[in-house]
Amino acid sequence: VDVGPTREVLSRHPDADSVIDARGKVVMPGFVDPHTHLIFAGSREGEVPLKVEGTPYGEIARRGGGILSTVEATRRASEDELFALARERLDRMLAQGTTTAEVKSGYGLRTADELKILRVAARLSREHAVEIVPTFLGAHALPKEYEGRAEDYVEYVLHEMLPALGPRLARFCDVFVERGFFTVDQARRVLSRAKEMGLGVKVHADELSQGGGAELAAEVGAVSADHLIHVSDGGLRAMASRGVVGVLLPGTPFTSPGLPFPDGRRIVEAGVPLALGTDLNPNAWLESMQLVLAMASYRLRLFPAEAIAAATINAAAALGLGDRLGSLEVGKQADLLLVEAENHLHLPYRLGTNLVQTVVKKGVVVWRALHT
Ligand SMILES: [Zn+2]
Repeated sequence: VDVGPTREVLSRHPDADSVIDARGKVVMPGFVDPHTHLIFAGSREGEVPLKVEGTPYGEIARRGGGILSTVEATRRASEDELFALARERLDRMLAQGTTTAEVKSGYGLRTADELKILRVAARLSREHAVEIVPTFLGAHALPKEYEGRAEDYVEYVLHEMLPALGPRLARFCDVFVERGFFTVDQARRVLSRAKEMGLGVKVHADELSQGGGAELAAEVGAVSADHLIHVSDGGLRAMASRGVVGVLLPGTPFTSPGLPFPDGRRIVEAGVPLALGTDLNPNAWLESMQLVLAMASYRLRLFPAEAIAAATINAAAALGLGDRLGSLEVGKQADLLLVEAENHLHLPYRLGTNLVQTVVKKGVVVWRALHT
């Protein structure tokens, strides 16, 4: 409704029903987390000591860990179980200031289970204060039953999964473009079909190696290309020219031995709009956008103000929602945080402490710290 210095705002609106005293605090937009794999069953804490020993991902997978172990647990879980697990995570995310979250499928890898995950996302969207943006990620990995038959699996995604989606279960389609996962050509076919169905598209790009994911994202008009640890200069130029948002996810290299952090400064200097997300998943169980801000400032070479913009307005743009979310402006949705700090620099500075005191979603207080 209005933004400005306290005295001016109050003089224009003398009859406010309720007053929230934010003196001495930072008031800022709620965090938009533009990349999560929120809905999964099981957990992989057993991989932490293996990572300490430097065990490569392939070996962890051979010993029964990795993505496919999560797929197995998620296939076994009922819709109600997945809902309960995801709701708890979402409660903690809200308490740490996340007011909107993108949520991907991708731990089902067969039609019934991918649909099950997306139905859980739809139910969360109806029942939880955090706004949910659902993404179909059927091409996340090859399920066991398609081992060595990537082409057949892509055909299955194209001709069975995508048609079964229906009009409202997903807003975006994403593909994991990486050696050992899906090729640029396979991703192009899936994303083109998704676009014909009216979905927006996203790409998991250049995470473990340089694989042409950023170039593909620009070519197909993706709203974002995510990870970008190994992105090429040409890929960045293509993204900049098409306005593709680069989503950086420092939680993944933080928890993956040998994987370097992406270079945020290089991406900003290439003219690519930059967003930040948690990539919450059972390999990197990160729910806090505040911790992402710290990693971004200390490890991705982003100034705190840039990182905050990347976690709010640019993250909203990475979901095609920049006109409605992500900043405090007249006419936008009132998603805002009161932060227990005298300035924004405390957000990356105070590691691992939740500084959020109050969360407002759509103009309503939805969470308050206990001591307030
Ligand atoms: Zn991801």
